[in-house]
Amino acid sequence: MSLTATDFIPFHRASIESDEIDAVVEVLRSGWLTTGPRVREFESGFAGYVGARHAVALNSCTAALHLALAAVGVGEGDEVILPTMTFAATGEVVLYLKARPVLVDSVPGSHHLDPDAVDRAITSRTKVILPVHFAGAPCDMGRILEIANRHNLKVIEDAAHALPSRYRGKMIGSLGDITCFSFYATKTITTGEGGMATTENAEYADRMRILSLHGISCDAWKRYSAAGSWRYEILEPGYKYNLSDIQAALGLVQMRKCDAMRDRRAMLAERYTSALSSLDAFEAPQCQREDGHAWHLYVIRVNGSALTISRDEVIAKLRELGIGTSVHFIPLHLHRLYQEQLGYRARQFPNAEKAYESSISLPIYSDMTEEEFDRVVEALTDIERKYRK
Ligand SMILES: *Cc1c(COP(=O)(O)O)cnc(C)c1O
Repeated sequence: MSLTATDFIPFHRASIESDEIDAVVEVLRSGWLTTGPRVREFESGFAGYVGARHAVALNSCTAALHLALAAVGVGEGDEVILPTMTFAATGEVVLYLKARPVLVDSVPGSHHLDPDAVDRAITSRTKVILPVHFAGAPCDMGRILEIANRHNLKVIEDAAHALPSRYRGKMIGSLGDITCFSFYATKTITTGEGGMATTENAEYADRMRILSLHGISCDAWKRYSAAGSWRYEILEPGYKYNLSDIQAALGLVQMRKCDAMRDRRAMLAERYTSALSSLDAFEAPQCQREDGHAWHLYVIRVNGSALTISRDEVIAKLRELGIGTSVHFIPLHLHRLYQEQLGYRARQFPNAEKAYESSISLPIYSDMTEEEFDRVVEALTDIERKYRK
């Protein structure tokens, strides 16, 4: 049997139904479009959902990471330890504050940062450990928090993939000093663009809230409501990082579906894993059984020794067969910025490079149909049959 592409199966498709649309329309009709009651409702709902005391809504996870680092006092000359296996955002926010991103390698065979490498990277200038819960599988937070405590460091988590994820029964969002989530269009819940920072620490929450809106004291949004006053005070140079009520209305509906959407992805992941067990050319992701995986990504490993074609050619063949995929991530140290301005070099982090060179992220989302799922598995089977060594 040979496959032909029919409709293109995108790498991701957000699940937007009539209740999301109705919620946004309701805000549009309400007369209050920017940060207001829907944002406050989203924040308190989100804090309750992940079991955190405070949640601050922001216009991206990048903004959340930036303000989180600022809130714990990262500044010029400080060092922040993060995995090289991550997206641009995790590293660039460190540079915003004139601090140094100290990259570390992954655990062999994994996309997660290696706690031993973190331990070795600590210097007198280290302020923060910034782990990334890659794909939605939690990092080894026991080790990371232990290392942070031992060296008196803060832990800020990049949880862009990790809603909802659990580490030993506790929701990601309730563990580190500050946890940052993303509601970008491809993430597990979306507001189009958006983010959230959660923390147990009221001072961090206040600081992030003030910095998110021009460094202005108190709830500026109240200025224009019946409860507010025209008076405000600028405390420090801030940013324009607030979320709008239009976005929060979308987020509130998405949040209610978060567990159901996760369960559907977990089911697809299980079926991918069982389908891959009969193929030699592709390996399923390894993950800890006891942890709660959000299954934001399903990343397979291409077994180069079983195929006559490369990982890149597999991606091109999948595309020809009408299947969108992605690669997460090109490690930071392989990018020009990190090599030319920060002195990193190729082959410095072999585990991350090996993972990068062999990874493909397959489509996985709650709206994926049975037919779409079957077509992805058939395409992989077809590629193995045609190009096996
Ligand atoms: C998507 C992503 C981000 C950035 O999220 P935004 O909301 O787009 O700013 C940060 N880190 C990782 C690992 C991501 O995948």
